[in-house]
Amino acid sequence: MPARGAGGRTAPARRRAPHPGSNLPRLVSELNLILIGPPGAGKGTQAENLQADFGLPYIATGDMMRAKRQEDSELGREIARVIAAGELVPDDVVCKVLLERVDAEGDDGFLLDGFPRTERQADVLDQALERRGRKLTAVLLIEAADDVIIQRLAGRRVCSNGHVYHVDFNRPKHEGVCDIDGTKLVQRDDDKPETIEKRLAVYHDETEPLVARYEEAGLLRSFDGTRPPEEVHRHIRATLAVLRLEEDL
Ligand code: ADP
Ligand code: ADP
Repeated sequence: MPARGAGGRTAPARRRAPHPGSNLPRLVSELNLILIGPPGAGKGTQAENLQADFGLPYIATGDMMRAKRQEDSELGREIARVIAAGELVPDDVVCKVLLERVDAEGDDGFLLDGFPRTERQADVLDQALERRGRKLTAVLLIEAADDVIIQRLAGRRVCSNGHVYHVDFNRPKHEGVCDIDGTKLVQRDDDKPETIEKRLAVYHDETEPLVARYEEAGLLRSFDGTRPPEEVHRHIRATLAVLRLEEDL
């Protein structure tokens, strides 16, 4: 059950900050978005564009878990093991860091990538948003079949700052070097064939059921992830522009 106040009422709606230099309330609604889809569908690739379009803080639990696995602690070592095996980090660990980030950076909207991945994570997010008087705007599903995914992940290369390339579909200007920050491109250790298979199985078992949940809630918007990246981007951007207009009406 979502947490409720003593009088049984939900938390009051948040007050919006006015436009800088004005006493008027903000005219533009916040966009609280989730990117969902199988590993390799193109969520991170699209997130780079959407951040620029809508100025949303990008919160990717994969990046956060990769940062945490560097920690010299029991937890850091356990996360490293889980990622390398293609399994999921325990819900409590992911939920805690995710909610801290949303509270720190997501006050005016957010773009979540890779969260939620289980029913439990979706429940925790719903309850946390409700307590804050907020709600999701939309869940953006990027779809691609398993054979496409395998090809994508096997050819994915990333830089140390998380910029994403592909050896065939999205080549850097200079081989092995990030266009944006000049750092070296590497293959993620969980983008190896055995681990890819495991991650896909985990997606189908644990995460795919969330698609029906968000569809029933009227939040789901689906996109064909097999189209070229610019086309997927145009579709998502157009959908979000309409959603934002509807929210403001
Ligand atoms: P991809 O989008 O390629 O699947 P991510 O970068 O999102 O990969 O995640 C990498 C790994 O980090 C996952 O395989 C999993 O081990 C861990 N992880 C990321 N997000 C979550 C989450 N919400 N719950 C549990 N584990 C997660
Ligand atoms: P995710 O974040 O969903 O795991 P990424 O954005 O990292 O997926 O994309 C996985 C791989 O597929 C990367 O190598 C990326 O360059 C490539 N890619 C992403 N979108 C497309 C697309 N629409 N067509 C072809 N390749 C793509």
